[in-house]
Amino acid sequence: MTELLTNQSRRNFLKLSATGLLMHSRSVSAFPKIINECLDPRLISTSKLEENAWQGINPENWWDCHAHIVGSGDSDSGITLSSDLSDPLLHPIQYIQHLAYENAACTGNSGEQDIAFVSRLMALMEVMPKGAKAMLYAFDKVHGANGDADHINTAFFVPNEYAQSLAQRYPERLEWVASIHPYRKDCVAKLEKAVEQGAKAIKWLPSVMGIDPSSPLCKDFYRTAAKLNIPIISHGGEEKALHGANQAIYSNPLRLRHAMDEGVRVVVAHCASIGNDINDQGKQVRSFDLFSAMMEDKQWQQHLYGDISAIVLRNREIEVVKTLLTQTAWHNRLLYGSDYPLTGVLPLISAKSFVDSGLLETNAIEPLMTLQSHHPFRFDFVLKRSLKWQGQSFANSIFETKAFFNR
Ligand SMILES: [Zn+2]
Repeated sequence: MTELLTNQSRRNFLKLSATGLLMHSRSVSAFPKIINECLDPRLISTSKLEENAWQGINPENWWDCHAHIVGSGDSDSGITLSSDLSDPLLHPIQYIQHLAYENAACTGNSGEQDIAFVSRLMALMEVMPKGAKAMLYAFDKVHGANGDADHINTAFFVPNEYAQSLAQRYPERLEWVASIHPYRKDCVAKLEKAVEQGAKAIKWLPSVMGIDPSSPLCKDFYRTAAKLNIPIISHGGEEKALHGANQAIYSNPLRLRHAMDEGVRVVVAHCASIGNDINDQGKQVRSFDLFSAMMEDKQWQQHLYGDISAIVLRNREIEVVKTLLTQTAWHNRLLYGSDYPLTGVLPLISAKSFVDSGLLETNAIEPLMTLQSHHPFRFDFVLKRSLKWQGQSFANSIFETKAFFNR
């Protein structure tokens, strides 16, 4: 049969098969929902659980510090996707992952994915309490040690200009985070310009972008970031969402000590809650253990932070969430982030599993399930606000991140 199909029809066939498979599992009620139906976020009222979640938090200070831009570059956004993400034949797993990502962001099949992403995002933000904002990430290309862009190994690129333009268009709802590769010859000028144009942080994904945070090539970038007092949000630990250069060792949280040595405030994304890395003694340990040890180390107290995005995904250990809840001494250095649109990939997060582990009350399931299919931002927020272990929940201050990024 395959010889009879053109590349395009093969692509459509695979897309249909993947969707059909997902749809089929959804119709069997014993299975969790898989497809996000992208329901109208205006149709849900505020439950008692959600009302309680906002107690003690001023929405004006609520900035979700970890939100991704999804798109295909079918507008003038400048976004580029590699064939890894768009070719079902060469890279079936990445392709299906990418479909799930698009579905979570509700970009639809209109052929106008960039625009659909923004429409959905703004429809969601519109029904957040007044003042609440999402911080949107640009995503720089892979660069080599010579400072040149490496287009072949770049899986995904979102220009700073695009992230900035969205924040400019919706200043009451969006902030933007620049992404600048520190090996670029113009990295210092780029950083200065980004700060001038209102960027609130710098976003890195070292393993995918090919950044070794311990490289001397980063020094000028660090010094400028410290001088301008702009934090770097960098992934630590394993990264599942994107494929590319994949130099896994670069995401070892210990490598970020070089940035802190130069005085940069570093936010370890997801608190390095997944994967293993090599410690200073050459032993393989959990990345989260390295993050924890650094959080405990007095010398990094002014510089090391963690964002709590993605910690509720099924592929994280429940022990990590328990530790983050009960280590209350860390709470003034934890920052709220969702990892939107991952929060809209329904099978990735199970409220029920938190009930089974004793971190969530049974009666929270129903309001959370409703939120999950209508509003991934409110779902993630209310879930994290409702988690409790040994009487400890996440402190209010974690959810008021504005002051940290406005310093
Ligand atoms: Zn992320």
